[in-house]
Amino acid sequence: MVIGAGLSRAYIIREGDAVRVRLRLSRHIRVKAGQYVGLWIPAVSFWAPLQSHPFMVTSWSAGRSKHLDIVVEPRKGWTRSLADLGRVNEQLLRDRGMKDTVSDTFVYKGLISNLALFTGPHGCSVPVGEYETVVMIASDFGIAAQLPYLHALVYSYNACKTRNRRVHLIWFLEKYNLIPPFVSLLNAALDNDSLDEGFILSISIHITASDMQDEQLGRRVNFYYRPMPLEQILKEEHEGKYIRKVQTEDMRSRDMAVLVSATGSIQDLVRKLILDRFKKGVTLFDLDY
Ligand SMILES: Cc1cc2nc3c(=O)[nH]c(=O)nc-3n(C[C@H](O)[C@H](O)[C@H](O)COP(=O)(O)OP(=O)(O)OC[C@H]3O[C@@H](n4cnc5c(N)ncnc54)[C@H](O)[C@@H]3O)c2cc1C
Repeated sequence: MVIGAGLSRAYIIREGDAVRVRLRLSRHIRVKAGQYVGLWIPAVSFWAPLQSHPFMVTSWSAGRSKHLDIVVEPRKGWTRSLADLGRVNEQLLRDRGMKDTVSDTFVYKGLISNLALFTGPHGCSVPVGEYETVVMIASDFGIAAQLPYLHALVYSYNACKTRNRRVHLIWFLEKYNLIPPFVSLLNAALDNDSLDEGFILSISIHITASDMQDEQLGRRVNFYYRPMPLEQILKEEHEGKYIRKVQTEDMRSRDMAVLVSATGSIQDLVRKLILDRFKKGVTLFDLDY
């Protein structure tokens, strides 16, 4: 565990219904997928010097990295003040005509940064590389816990370092507004998932507050506005329906990891489906956030 990693700088940007924080560290550190940090930014409010808050690290790198990305849901206390602080950089970016802050093209120059310290990284990383199929189920900001796994899985598949052959991200959203802050991160995973045009990744997004028709964007992204057929999706993934088979391969039951970072009701539903429908070959992981 690192405390502080020296003095870091936090670039805080409000973006739609979310706040993005990029920590620029004074030295490189290694963070595994699924780990979180305890963040301390005294400039956030009068009482902030007394508080540290836990946040998942959404960025992922195969080696050590000198920056960490975090996405924060503004709630009532510290996170609301953080969102207010992030308005300054939001305005600076708008003045420059930059519509978004795609992580790789993030421009530090001219943006305001604040002193930050953190503890961590904390928490365990699920050994997702050991499973043939990985299904990730998130609701709203729970996506923050899944993103580093998504990037690690696609990277490891491209580098032939894993036995994964299928990854399916299922994201339940209350409102469409949450998509823009995460869209660049999801697109980066889709762009990287291009080994031999094999495409191991699918993304299914369910939006509650909408009266639109279900639609498919390309081969890999589905939008559901009506109830999502979760049981059918899990069954098809368990059967390996979307795994490209070589001719000699049999139809044996496959092993699947299901990672959940969702509301209690979705967690309960997934647990019940897995217990009732799949007697073996499925391992359920409740993530830290
Ligand atoms: C392991 C972990 C990872 C997390 N990752 C993320 C993330 O990536 N993005 C994100 O938006 N949120 C994340 N959270 C939740 C985030 O830490 C809280 O929303 C934040 O601390 C709330 O601060 P607030 O003062 O605005 O809370 P308030 O609006 O005052 O309260 C909102 C809720 O947050 C809880 N809370 C308040 N302070 C803390 C604290 N210091 N530690 C833990 N919970 C607290 C309260 O009990 C309450 O349930 C994570 C939480 C945990 C435990």
